[in-house]
Amino acid sequence: MEQPAVAPAGRPDWDAWLLELARWAARRATCPRRRVGAVIARDRRVLATGYNGSLPGQPHCDEAGCLVDAEGHCRRTVHAELNALLQAARFGTPCEGAAVYLTDAPCPDCARALAQAGIAEVVVDRPYGDGAGIAVLEAAGVAVRRRPAPWLPLLGLVGGAGAGKDTVARWLAERWRYTPVALADPMRPFLRQLFPDHPRLRPLYQGLGDWARAQDPDAFVQAAARRVARGGPWVVTDIRFPNEADWLEAAGGALIGVDAPEALRRVRVRARDGEDGLAGWVCFVNRKSPISP
Ligand SMILES: [Zn+2]
Ligand SMILES: [Zn+2]
Repeated sequence: MEQPAVAPAGRPDWDAWLLELARWAARRATCPRRRVGAVIARDRRVLATGYNGSLPGQPHCDEAGCLVDAEGHCRRTVHAELNALLQAARFGTPCEGAAVYLTDAPCPDCARALAQAGIAEVVVDRPYGDGAGIAVLEAAGVAVRRRPAPWLPLLGLVGGAGAGKDTVARWLAERWRYTPVALADPMRPFLRQLFPDHPRLRPLYQGLGDWARAQDPDAFVQAAARRVARGGPWVVTDIRFPNEADWLEAAGGALIGVDAPEALRRVRVRARDGEDGLAGWVCFVNRKSPISP
């Protein structure tokens, strides 16, 4: 009997299926800056998988924070591409002529490793990204394909405390490969280094954030603009003030309102560690409709 020419609705083609596996591998990644997955395949057969993670026995970025170098890259993890190649090497699987499916465009170091390992083709899920690694691959004669973009490159989440912005950001990251970025991110390494054992950092973020905004209302916006100038797609998880919403829209982004019933928001805010105090409630009340007049 002849096979139907059209695949049943929802049945992924081979590229989509292997990229879906790469996305699953990425869910094991331990660096919150970017969770990357890699699948090495030959003739649609999986040879090895990898995700970015710390060395065995060493702390994860998720627990200990990222080790960010002068260029803004996290140096704590071994990258997904390299981990997949090393897994193949460890178990004696040749990769010559194989294809690699990646959730994200590779960095130049990984691109060099893929080319040197004899990889013939690289398929990238996320069409945006630093082109430096792609250029390395193409110069080395590796075929590169990118999936078309079904998404907007920049989104911003607006909503009060406990509305569920982080949940929405996680879903966008897992389902659509958005990278969450918070306007408050620049404060994190600073406060963690100063108060490594502090149990209630959230009120400190608010205090430091208010101070920084008093110096320059656009300080956080400018830091975020530098971060999202390349790569993506990005979702900014904490749009609170009018100038932040203005910047996001001027940059071509779309705002998404996130809300939940007030009783549920109250439960969530109470459950947060360190937020069931004055600072948390001020945030809950004053920032309920943060960008309405
Ligand atoms: Zn990291
Ligand atoms: Zn890399």
